[in-house]
Amino acid sequence: MAGIYLHLPFCSSFCLYCDFYSEVNESTLRRGYLDALKAEISERANYFAGVLPDTIYMGGGTPSLFDPEEIAELADLLRDGFKITHLREFTLEANPDDITPQKLEGWRRAGVDRLSIGVQSFFDDHLAWMRRRHSSSQAINAFKMARKADYNNISLDLIFGFEGLSEEQWRHNIEQLTALSPEHISCYQMSIEPGSELALLADAGRYKEPSEEICADQYSILQKLLEDAGYRQYEISNFARPGREALHNASYWERVPYLGLGASAHSFDGRRCRYRNIADIKSYIAAMGANDFAQIRKEEILSDDDIFNEQIMLGLRKVSGLSLSSLESSRLAKIKPVLNHLTNTGEIISEGDIIRIPAERMFVSDGIMQQLFL
Ligand code: SF4
Repeated sequence: MAGIYLHLPFCSSFCLYCDFYSEVNESTLRRGYLDALKAEISERANYFAGVLPDTIYMGGGTPSLFDPEEIAELADLLRDGFKITHLREFTLEANPDDITPQKLEGWRRAGVDRLSIGVQSFFDDHLAWMRRRHSSSQAINAFKMARKADYNNISLDLIFGFEGLSEEQWRHNIEQLTALSPEHISCYQMSIEPGSELALLADAGRYKEPSEEICADQYSILQKLLEDAGYRQYEISNFARPGREALHNASYWERVPYLGLGASAHSFDGRRCRYRNIADIKSYIAAMGANDFAQIRKEEILSDDDIFNEQIMLGLRKVSGLSLSSLESSRLAKIKPVLNHLTNTGEIISEGDIIRIPAERMFVSDGIMQQLFL
């Protein structure tokens, strides 16, 4: 198992809450960026050292802004460059306002077999406040178009935990979503990210986060309604029909190797080395054009404690939990007293070799995991 993530950091406008690296109104840089990606694909041809990548994820930014021919060009380069013979999953992130029958057809020809569509809410006033560029009806139509174009693996995103979202509206959003019956659902709590427009509003006293209690209630409503609708939670923010869990994202939680290509993309060698590409399109293009690869990439070597903490953090994100025998024994011995305490208080469930966070404590999982870090 190994995955390739390709970052396409271009957007038509910034969403209120977003802190991802992306550029707005820089479409003239697109061709140069694609050429730089080509250079990086060729430079990283031996990255996987014998392991064949079997998932591709094109994220952003807004990959759906790109022409299907450009997506196909990148997909061909990835297949040739990494000798990919069999893909288990090829996901493209798409915004509802970009989706057309022509693009759907073009993406399919490029090999895309899974779409991740950012819906976020079915209320137009929420969407306008978030500075999303689509309406509720556009999101519904986009989903129906994708179904008509034979996409049978679609993930939809929703956001909860923002000021003004009532319980009734949240229930409505979940019901609208499940009525569409996507294979996969991701739900994220709105957070105030430094550098986002939302952070400015909060600083100016014009936005106030809902209480922890309200957010926790919305999360448990989500868990209940999705379970009733036949979805299985498999990670803190992710739910799927049985067998439709996201394969590419699983590589992050399983600590298998993945390669991130493009400005601000991250990679992991599956052992102890993480890489982070420079978060600046122009510098990325210039460095790749000059074959100056050292300029675009920073390397971080994880210590044994870092690896242990990562295993805890990534393993306990999953509903299936973490195998204790995968942890280094002397470090496991150090956290045993805290682990026993968390098991006694019901924050952690221990079943033989497996420890996991129970569904009703998933909302506060960050705090539970942190107690186990070295
Ligand atoms: S949330 Fe997505 S579409 Fe919105 S600005 Fe961020 S990257 Fe672009």
